[in-house]
Amino acid sequence: MRVSKLFGKTQREVPAEADTISHQLLLRAGMIHQVAAGVYAYLPLAWRALKKIENIIRDEMDRADGQELMMPALQPLELWQETGRDLAFGKNLFTFPDRRERKLALGPTHEEVIARIASFNIQSYRDLPLMAYHIQTKFRDEPRPRGGLLRVREFTMKDLYSFDVDEKGLDQSYNKMLKAYQNIYARCGLPALLVEADSGAIGGKDSHEFTVITESGEDEVIYCPDCKYAANADKAQSIKDKIKSGEPLPVAEVKTPGMTSIEQVSGFLKVSQSQTLKAVFYIADGRLIFVVIRGDIEVNEVKLKNVLHCLELRLATEAEVVAAGIVAGSASPIGITGIKIIADDSIISGANFVAGANKPDTHLRNVNYPRDFKADLVTDIALARAGEGCPKCQSKLSSAHGIEVGHIFKLGTFISEKLGASFVDPKGISHPIVMGSYGIGLGRLLATVIEYSHDDKGIIWPLSIAPYHIYLCPLYLENPLVAAKTGELYADLKAQGLEVLFDDREESPGVKFNDADLLGIPIRVTISPRTLKTNSVEIKKRPEKKSQLVPLEEVVIRLKELLSAT
Ligand SMILES: [Zn+2]
Repeated sequence: MRVSKLFGKTQREVPAEADTISHQLLLRAGMIHQVAAGVYAYLPLAWRALKKIENIIRDEMDRADGQELMMPALQPLELWQETGRDLAFGKNLFTFPDRRERKLALGPTHEEVIARIASFNIQSYRDLPLMAYHIQTKFRDEPRPRGGLLRVREFTMKDLYSFDVDEKGLDQSYNKMLKAYQNIYARCGLPALLVEADSGAIGGKDSHEFTVITESGEDEVIYCPDCKYAANADKAQSIKDKIKSGEPLPVAEVKTPGMTSIEQVSGFLKVSQSQTLKAVFYIADGRLIFVVIRGDIEVNEVKLKNVLHCLELRLATEAEVVAAGIVAGSASPIGITGIKIIADDSIISGANFVAGANKPDTHLRNVNYPRDFKADLVTDIALARAGEGCPKCQSKLSSAHGIEVGHIFKLGTFISEKLGASFVDPKGISHPIVMGSYGIGLGRLLATVIEYSHDDKGIIWPLSIAPYHIYLCPLYLENPLVAAKTGELYADLKAQGLEVLFDDREESPGVKFNDADLLGIPIRVTISPRTLKTNSVEIKKRPEKKSQLVPLEEVVIRLKELLSAT
């Protein structure tokens, strides 16, 4: 490919709208073009890299016995209504009526469609286990598209679905996919961490994410440096700091004029925040929920949402709290009736807490659970934090930011039951098929490679997914000898089947070297009047500083060696 003909121009300035490295570099390299918010076109260089990622993924899916098929992006909304996941996806689901006023959805994922297909094509235990996948366009109406290709509204995803007779079979399929995913990341040069995750709108029980730790990541991962425990912050557990317990003392009212926050109350009464109980109010599907948690700990809203089995959860407004007869700033679980109370299990470690009195400017000392109030449920709804104890080995937990590059789910039977996907066992008894779901977004994977592998000059592609392998860079092309030798070498490299990007522009050496670095092509071959004095070319690997002179007649062999060695 000739750079002069390339569709997509490099630019020197960092685009103002780009807030992540991958977004900046993809725009500067002329690899993507934003068509609408969260909607991008891939120009030829990025498309070549994406196709290579696609082929790696396809190869690993096929090796794991996945069967490739193709399902439509356009789906009847009815299918989503049958599983109830139209509500779980909410506004993220693109829906619209067709000309006959039948509601359609643009698929954000394909569990419903494939379960319906399975209901027609799987009858017997002999048909199982089975794994099927496709690589296709998905649509999600993200509230906040960001980071270029990192969070978009239209994207290519590989989604595989496993079908098994029982949980044991599902475990086997799950482990097979887990291994295949690890192979994919290794082949793309990414160190992806296996992280316990919340299932979110997809649903199901166990789920794991693969996360690449980078500064620009918007997911927080809590992990243990001493054992292998790692979990998304939505899901992470921890051993909460122990606080002193003691004999329960009698409840006593204390005046706290103007003190409404935990900081103010604990400062005023000279007790640590961990010696207080905090009241937090939520509206879950329209209903007020009273949450009680130790004053030094924050509520994990994903855990709370899962405990409540609700679709929508938000903080209550002060007006909603007051309307329920509660004194904001001095809210108390004591004496409350008619409101669902959910307590974090932190309230049972420790004794004699300070809590609100549900009277203005007043708090209570020596509040003890369950002596003084009852909760409808006491469970872990806390946000785990770095510094707390690892739930597996009790070492201190750490935290880091990362990008989710894959998500796998043990779905179980909730979708197959609703869509009639069942099989008959050897005794003739019918059972719902046990399903798993495994997804990778290709564009996000590409962007994550750039987030992980770049320097101040540009992208550093791993050879496996680089758009081209060789950047053929003649200097002073107006020199007839340079032009002649470069032309011969370009023809030769192409004839040998090597992937060459030929910078045939009459630009200065500085411009050409900068673009070669920006585009991140793994090997640069420079031909100039100087190298031709010894009938040689200069070969340099992208991230390395030093180069080597190689005689022209040995170039092809040297390049082939370099390409097979990496
Ligand atoms: Zn640990």
